[in-house]
Amino acid sequence: MIVVKDDLLILRETLQRFVDSRLRPLVAEYEANQRFPIDVTREMGQLGCFGAGFPESVGGAGLGKLGQTLVIEELSHASGGIAATTLVQFLSIYPLYLHGTTEQQSMYLKPAILGERMAAIAVTEPNHGSNVAGIETVAVPDGSGYRIKGQKMFITNSPFADFMVVAAKTPGSDPHHAITLFVVDRNSPGVIIGGHLKKLGWWTSETAPVYFDNCWVPAAQVIGEAGAGFYYIMEDFNYERLLLSASSIGLAQEALAVAKAYATSRSQFGVIIAEFQAVRHKLAQMAVRLEAGRQLLAHAATVADEADDFSELASMAKYFCGEMVNQVAYDAIQILGGAGYLQDHPLERIYRDARIMTIGGGTSEVQLNIIAKRMGL
Ligand SMILES: Cc1cc2nc3c(=O)[nH]c(=O)nc-3n(C[C@H](O)[C@H](O)[C@H](O)COP(=O)(O)OP(=O)(O)OC[C@H]3O[C@@H](n4cnc5c(N)ncnc54)[C@H](O)[C@@H]3O)c2cc1C
Repeated sequence: MIVVKDDLLILRETLQRFVDSRLRPLVAEYEANQRFPIDVTREMGQLGCFGAGFPESVGGAGLGKLGQTLVIEELSHASGGIAATTLVQFLSIYPLYLHGTTEQQSMYLKPAILGERMAAIAVTEPNHGSNVAGIETVAVPDGSGYRIKGQKMFITNSPFADFMVVAAKTPGSDPHHAITLFVVDRNSPGVIIGGHLKKLGWWTSETAPVYFDNCWVPAAQVIGEAGAGFYYIMEDFNYERLLLSASSIGLAQEALAVAKAYATSRSQFGVIIAEFQAVRHKLAQMAVRLEAGRQLLAHAATVADEADDFSELASMAKYFCGEMVNQVAYDAIQILGGAGYLQDHPLERIYRDARIMTIGGGTSEVQLNIIAKRMGL
């Protein structure tokens, strides 16, 4: 896919205006209530937040993985939670774009790109996170469909999602060929959304467990081939790693900007603190780490737009950027001293939002496992 740089610039500028004028003013209230500002989804859809990376044939902007990472980076300037909601929306419909039928695409994919319908993706379970192949939710063939039974955990967007992409085991002895993806309407009998999970960060995203109590779905709700779900999930996870890296970049940029502004305005011992070598070196190190992450992600996303296999680079970007944003947020708070430790300060939120970046979408340890395996170890 060839992405035109001018289009990316226009998208970035448009999103920056939207973030500053529309999202930033909402963040304090929605963070306090631990809710996503659901009323903005159609505006976000119009701007391409959920579809920049999809081709125009399905209602996207045709800006590829580079374009979609840019969206997540810019939204992360407002808040990690809003970016998380957006990237989950995108990843929930990505399997429908790649493998869905024309009917599924018109019913779920296209309205979700426009922000008219919200989506979640339910893979993780209470006993199976990193080990996707181990999931225990089953989809038993029953008449002209399947009966889904099981429990999912940590499902972002599920409190308001109109539909969910659900991973469940279908008959098959090899666990890697026994997972099927289904698109399930929220109001299907047997779908139960649990209570809001209170989280350390990402407060403007909503996360809950989801239960499937013998939920019957017609066979037309299977996405792609039955039994191919594990591989579809891995495709999704590779993309997710680029998007989470982009969120780390946006959060780190924001943290560095706040720390730099503070360091150049705060005086101690009669001197602006940015004059102290300890402080200016810390700011310089933060800038280097951020730039290294930005370059790694830009390279990974560019390769991802051109090649089928980008999993090693996606894992490298996810690992590096996830660790980087935690270091940058930590250093930024150090530069602010006590002011950065206060609740309601943007840095306090960024520090909390950064923590998920080494966990969600595959932990740092899982990324290193993937990289080591690719090294032939
Ligand atoms: C806020 C939030 C939102 C989420 N949203 C979603 C969502 O929308 N949909 C969804 O399906 N899931 C979601 N998740 C789940 C997320 O993807 C998992 O939390 C993540 O994959 C890790 O799984 P786990 O929490 O079960 O940890 P575990 O897999 O139990 O890991 C625990 C520890 O063991 C380590 N470990 C595990 N296996 C290995 C190994 N092979 N080698 C070395 N170390 C290992 C891990 O690195 C980690 O340190 C979300 C999670 C959170 C916290």
